[in-house]
Amino acid sequence: MRRISVFGSTGSIGVNTLDLIARRPGEFQVVALSGGRNVDLLASQARALRAEVAVTAHEECLPALRAALHGSEIEAAAGKAALIEAAGRPADWIMSAIVGVAGLAPGFAALKQGTTLALANKESLVAAGPLLLAEAARHGARILPVDSEHSAVFQALTGERMEEVERVIITASGGAFRDWPYERLKGATVAEASCHPNWAMGQRITIDSASMFNKALELIETKEFFGFAPEQIEVLVHPESLVHALVGFRDGALMAHLGAPDMRHAIGYALNWPARRDLPVERLDLAKIGQLSFRAPDETRFPALRLAREVMATGGTAGAAFNAAKEIALDGFIGGQIGFLAMAELVEAVLAQMSARQGLGNDARSLDNVMGTDAEARALAREMIATGRI
Ligand code: NAD
Ligand code: MG
Repeated sequence: MRRISVFGSTGSIGVNTLDLIARRPGEFQVVALSGGRNVDLLASQARALRAEVAVTAHEECLPALRAALHGSEIEAAAGKAALIEAAGRPADWIMSAIVGVAGLAPGFAALKQGTTLALANKESLVAAGPLLLAEAARHGARILPVDSEHSAVFQALTGERMEEVERVIITASGGAFRDWPYERLKGATVAEASCHPNWAMGQRITIDSASMFNKALELIETKEFFGFAPEQIEVLVHPESLVHALVGFRDGALMAHLGAPDMRHAIGYALNWPARRDLPVERLDLAKIGQLSFRAPDETRFPALRLAREVMATGGTAGAAFNAAKEIALDGFIGGQIGFLAMAELVEAVLAQMSARQGLGNDARSLDNVMGTDAEARALAREMIATGRI
C-alpha cells in the first residue's frame, strides 16, 4: 500500500485529493492529515480514511480535535511543530495544500524523506523556490506541480528537451473582474471578488484570481519550478479556462494542454505519475464548446503582473517579501480595512521600501533568511495599513 499524507486536507485542494483517494479503497494508507479550525471535518476525514494522525494548525483547537477523535485510534496533534513532525513521518506521496507561506515549513520537512511532494502550495516556490529545489535535490526527493497551469506545462514538456523550449504561456481566466472598468474596481467588494467564473477554489486564491495576484504568483512559480527566463514566460487571458498552458518550441510548434476546469485533473496526474489512470473528470466536447477565446492581460487594471516581473528581475528574497505583503494586503481587503485596488498599492509600497532599506536581491540563503524577510514585509504592510498610508 502507498503511504500518503495530505497537508491542508480540509481545504479545496485537500478535499479533492481525498476524493480521489477514497475512490480507490485498499490502495492507500493515510499517514497524516492536517487542517485549521474546521476540526470536525478534519476528524471525519481522519476517521473515514483511518489516518494515523490528524493535526490542526491551531493549539487552541486541540481539545476539540481530541474530542472529535475520541474512541478512535487516531492521534491528535496541534501547532507548527506538530505539522513538521507529521511531515517527517514516512510516506511515499505527500500533498502540500496548506494556503499561504504557512505551507513552506511542512513542505520543506517532507522533502527530507526523499520521496514525492505534490506541490499545490505555490507560495512555497514564490518565497523560497531555489531553497526548496536544492532541498529536494539533496534528499533525492521529487516535486510534482499541482497548480493546473504548472501541471499542464509539466505534461507538455514530457519527452521534450528543455533547451528546445522557446516560451511558455500560462493562461488566466481573468477572474471575477475580467471585464470590469478601472473605476468600478475601486469599489469592488469581498463578496464580488469571491465569485470565480470557472473554478471552485478556496476564498483566498479566488480573490487572488480577481486581482490577478494569483497569476502573478504563478509567473514566479513557473520561473522557479522550471527554470525559464522571465522573458520566456507569458500570460494569456483565456476566459473559458479550458487551455491551461502552452509550451512553444524553437520550431514554432505550440503544445497546449486542455481539460475541464477541475483540480482533480492536476491532483490525479501527480497522484498517478508517471502513469495515467482514469479520473472522474468531465470529458470536453469541443464541438459543443465551439469557440475558445484569448486576449492579452491588462496590466493597468491589474498591476500584480507588472509587480511579479519586477520581483523576478530582482530575485533573492523579493519573492518572499512580495508574497508576504500580498497575504497581508489580502487580509486587509477581506477584513474591510483596505479597498480592492489598494492591495496592489500596498504590495508595491512594501517592495519599494524594503529594497530601499536593505535591498532584496540577495540573502535568500536559508529558510531563516526567507522567513525573516517574510516577517519584515508583514510588519511593514500591517504598519502601512494601520497608519493609513495606504
Ligand atoms: P483553502 O483555503 O481551501 O484550504 C487551505 C487549507 O490550509 C485548509 O486545510 C486550512 O485549514 C489550511 N490552513 C490555512 N491556514 C493555515 C495555517 N496558517 N497553517 C496551517 N494550515 C492552514 O485553500 P485551497 O484553495 O485548497 O488552496 C491550497 C493551496 O493550493 C494554496 O497554496 C493555493 O494557492 C493552491 N492552489 C489551489 C487551487 C484550487 O483550486 N483551490 C488551485 C491551484 C493551487
Ligand atoms: Mg493555477
